[in-house]
Amino acid sequence: MTKTQGYATLGAKKPLEPFTFERRELLQDDVSIDILYCGVCHSDVHQVRDEWAQSVYPMVPGHEIVGRVTAVGKDVKKFKVGDLAGVGCMVDSCRECGSCDKDLEQYCAGTVFTYNAPEKHTGKMTYGGYSKHIIVNKHFVLHISEKMASPEKLAAVAPLLCAGITTYSPMRHWQVSKGHKVGVVGLGGLGHMAVKWSHAFGAKTVLFTTSPNKTGDALRMGADEVVISKKANEMQLHAGSFDFIINTVAASHDLNPFLQLLKRDGTMCMIGVPDHPHPPVDTASLIFQRRSLAGSLIGGIKETQEMLDFAAKHDIVCDVEMIAMNEINQAFDRVVRSDVKYRFVIDMATLA
Ligand code: NAP
Ligand code: ZN
Ligand code: ZN
Repeated sequence: MTKTQGYATLGAKKPLEPFTFERRELLQDDVSIDILYCGVCHSDVHQVRDEWAQSVYPMVPGHEIVGRVTAVGKDVKKFKVGDLAGVGCMVDSCRECGSCDKDLEQYCAGTVFTYNAPEKHTGKMTYGGYSKHIIVNKHFVLHISEKMASPEKLAAVAPLLCAGITTYSPMRHWQVSKGHKVGVVGLGGLGHMAVKWSHAFGAKTVLFTTSPNKTGDALRMGADEVVISKKANEMQLHAGSFDFIINTVAASHDLNPFLQLLKRDGTMCMIGVPDHPHPPVDTASLIFQRRSLAGSLIGGIKETQEMLDFAAKHDIVCDVEMIAMNEINQAFDRVVRSDVKYRFVIDMATLA
């Protein structure tokens, strides 16, 4: 076992604070990574505050991890010491079910999430990326291009490991491309990446926001138009016109006004996971235009690598605000107020 340092919360109503814990010994298929940057996902806030009612404490959150490899097990050939590496939301899965066979490890019944999940090897809970160091099975470690090695770039790559793949995967699944009209609901960590992907894939992109002051940023990121979703008259102008809408909102809200904006056969894909359910959906609006309401969970490891390679090729990264580790509790409060542009990333060098 190796001692390491991180930040943990000891209970739903407690702040995050310094925490010392042990990582497992390096196994033959493991990669050991010194963490340089870790993104702050709204899922970290939900789980630290037990909003999904499944939190186990102490909890070390963090699943948008980038760093450098410091050691590899004897059966690891695809990484070597000194490589840049990334870890996202998963660190293990069963590897033999129908989902694992199809590179969709996120839908495996045996997925081990990067934190707040029982680890197969030790039976203890996994601890995430708000820490100095992590050990992960090679299958769940991603390559990061040396093109992204500057500190500014690397920090802006970290949130691709969750916010990036969670928006990239459904857009690929529903084949967003030129000629499509795509809506993105919410300009936060996930939403701002959805705008960037949709634009990069050639679709006409419309951002729906509750924050008028985000309009300029959305246009700069590639949105063709911005709609203030609270204004019914602005919404009405887009009725029946969207092929695909990706809804990233982290809170319970009325989905019906957005369903009305879909074309016949259009789909709204939900990726936000609020702490309590949305108001009921009017199924008539689905039935009469054969519309679909769907959902999507992060993305598989193969597709995450594809996304990272696409991002490096097209120079697409996240817009980030760097924070020191001891600023994390204020950062959580700002995430809840939708006051982040557009992802906090922790500089792990600030963790003494
Ligand atoms: P975030 O940065 O807080 O962004 C969420 C955005 O939703 C806000 O910026 C805000 O955008 C909008 N919003 C917030 N409260 C709202 C309200 N009451 N009504 C309408 N809009 C509201 O969060 P995130 O990190 O992007 O995560 C978004 C959600 O996705 C979270 O629930 C998270 O747990 C979930 N998530 C799911 C997956 C998955 O695999 N499906 C993966 C990661 C995260 P505007 O200011 O533009 O309105
Ligand atoms: Zn996340
Ligand atoms: Zn499986």
